[in-house]
This record gives sequence, structure tokens and C-alpha cells, in this order.
Amino acid sequence: MEGNDRSAAAQRHGAAGVPDEHLELELACTCGLPGCEERFLVPSAAYRWTGGRRVVAPGHILPGALLVEHHATYDVVQLPG
Ligand SMILES: [Zn+2]
Repeated sequence: MEGNDRSAAAQRHGAAGVPDEHLELELACTCGLPGCEERFLVPSAAYRWTGGRRVVAPGHILPGALLVEHHATYDVVQLPG
């Protein structure tokens, strides 16, 4: 019976069964600063909208970019234009 349980659990964790909101993505910072190698976790739900916005490490805000959201592990910035 133990084998059956394990099989069922594996199916529940298949790609189709995982709610996006509960996933976290490890992203490289996209601030564009030279030498930046920051990586951080972002809930995938927060990363759906990317048009004109970037998710960066906290404080990695380029000149001209606007801070939209501040979180413990990442910031969201709006790029001009
Ligand atoms: Zn950065």
C-alpha cells in the first residue's frame, strides 16, 4: 500500500496540479547594473505582468526607473517609456 500512496502523491505534484500562486521562481536580478549577480525568490503570481516592469533585487533601482512595489526579497520597478 505504501507504493500506491507514493504514486498518488507523485501525481498530485505533477505539473498540472500545482497552483501557480504557490510557486516561487528564483530569478537573476535584471537591474542592468554592471557586475550585479543578485538572485532572489519571487512568487510566480507576482511575476506574471512584465510589460514595462522589472523585478530586481531590493534597492537595485536604475536612474529613471520608478519603484512600484517593495518586498522583503525583491523590488518591482517601472521603466520609463
Ligand atoms: Zn541588480
